[in-house]
Amino acid sequence: MTVPDFSILRQSVPGVKIDSLPRLCSNEPMSETSQEDLLRQIPAVDHLLQLPRVSQWVERTSRSFVVSEIQALLRDVRDAIRAGRLSDATDSASLEFLLEQRIESRLRPGLVPVINATGVILHTNLGRAPLSVAAQQSLSAIAGQFTNLEYDNETGARSHRDQFLEKSLTEILGCEAATVVNNNAAAVFLILNTLAAGREVVVSRGELVEIGGAFRIPDILARSGALLREVGTTNKTRIEDYAEVIGQNTALILRVHPSNYRILGFTHRPDLGDMLELAHRHQIPLVEDLGSGCLVDLTPYGITDEPIAQKSAAAGVDLICFSGDKLLGGPQAGIIAGARKLIDSIRKNPLIRTYRVEKLIYSALEATLASYRQGRALEEIPTLRMISTPQAELRRRVRSFSSRLRKKLPEGARVQITDGNSVVGGGSCPECNLPTVLLTLESQNKGPQVIASLLRRQKPPIVLRVEEDHALVDLRTVFPDQEAILLSGLVSALR
Ligand SMILES: *Cc1c(COP(=O)(O)O)cnc(C)c1O
Repeated sequence: MTVPDFSILRQSVPGVKIDSLPRLCSNEPMSETSQEDLLRQIPAVDHLLQLPRVSQWVERTSRSFVVSEIQALLRDVRDAIRAGRLSDATDSASLEFLLEQRIESRLRPGLVPVINATGVILHTNLGRAPLSVAAQQSLSAIAGQFTNLEYDNETGARSHRDQFLEKSLTEILGCEAATVVNNNAAAVFLILNTLAAGREVVVSRGELVEIGGAFRIPDILARSGALLREVGTTNKTRIEDYAEVIGQNTALILRVHPSNYRILGFTHRPDLGDMLELAHRHQIPLVEDLGSGCLVDLTPYGITDEPIAQKSAAAGVDLICFSGDKLLGGPQAGIIAGARKLIDSIRKNPLIRTYRVEKLIYSALEATLASYRQGRALEEIPTLRMISTPQAELRRRVRSFSSRLRKKLPEGARVQITDGNSVVGGGSCPECNLPTVLLTLESQNKGPQVIASLLRRQKPPIVLRVEEDHALVDLRTVFPDQEAILLSGLVSALR
């Protein structure tokens, strides 16, 4: 029998494997059929709609959707025949199969879960922080319902959407007021636009940060309408450098945490206390962009260099801002906290509406913060749990995982256990060491890039680290309940 060349059709159906195609035509060998004949033999749309599997799709979706998919498929078939790429008849069974593949691939969501075996905890490309179980539960409780987002249940009057979160944030941070916007970039922009448009903002040359994705302090500052007043040098900025430039037109001092880089060696950065004293002597606010939103002391786990938000608030920094989805471990958000007067004026900025977040973010953030309030952040928040997992525990997990894996490994494949480091990522803590235990994958006939690419194509996709010609798995970022899927994924990629 001959199998028609459906490769042209497969192009529009990503993910259909050649060996998964059934017998696509009848056993009758076609003899010298003309293109005209082939075109005439294409079944009608109505005929295809009657096929059992197709009518199931009509029930599950809608007639109009299935009809338009059939029409698109038949267009591809006709084009293939006219281009001479299809020289066999297309029977109903083949078309039914292709249509199903097509519909399934069209309905498959683009945004899907991924297994992160890289050991990079805050992987910006993988969506930064995965949410806690509590945050997931709060999302599903809220998502399909009306809510009291801006409604006071006691009085029936309108209230502010920050109402609940402000309570949690001020309690955790120990400050007067707080608000939430879309992300930390928006937080920095709004602060500058509200407090400093048309006036000068003093920033150390060592803190003119660029964060991945084109967030650059000088650019944001310029767009906000503020005027950048750089002081000091790249490696050394003294308190006197700040003092020298403060004048009538100074709106505020901005201190930025150099999240994703470190200046080492011959360096100086003034103490927070000295900067506060200077700012307040001149009656201007000190604003601190903390970047990551670290709310617990992570030094026991090797995160030695991240400023803790409560410390800045306690020291009296007038406004702090940080991300919700970096070390904090919540949804994407930008948190601004500090003096009530300043928060109130930011709330009155008409632009705040353009950075407003919706109920789902409030809900997930409130649940995430609840873990902090209960002192259960390290246990409940995935980013913190991953950071605080001791190397000994990772070693136990890797040993048990690799012994299960070895039993199923195909011929020519090998795995080895080695010590290594995980990475915090997300532009946090570039110098931090998180000792981990890695699994090195080797295959006789596949290089590490090939292994990585085969794993990326699995469902769900598995992302691993390729380093110095080794394909590496770091279980630190793999949830224990993903291990079984990871294991079968590795076995099939190494086959
Ligand atoms: C990450 C970061 C930002 C941007 O935060 P997003 O939440 O990604 O918008 C701004 N400033 C600093 C110092 C950062 O580390």
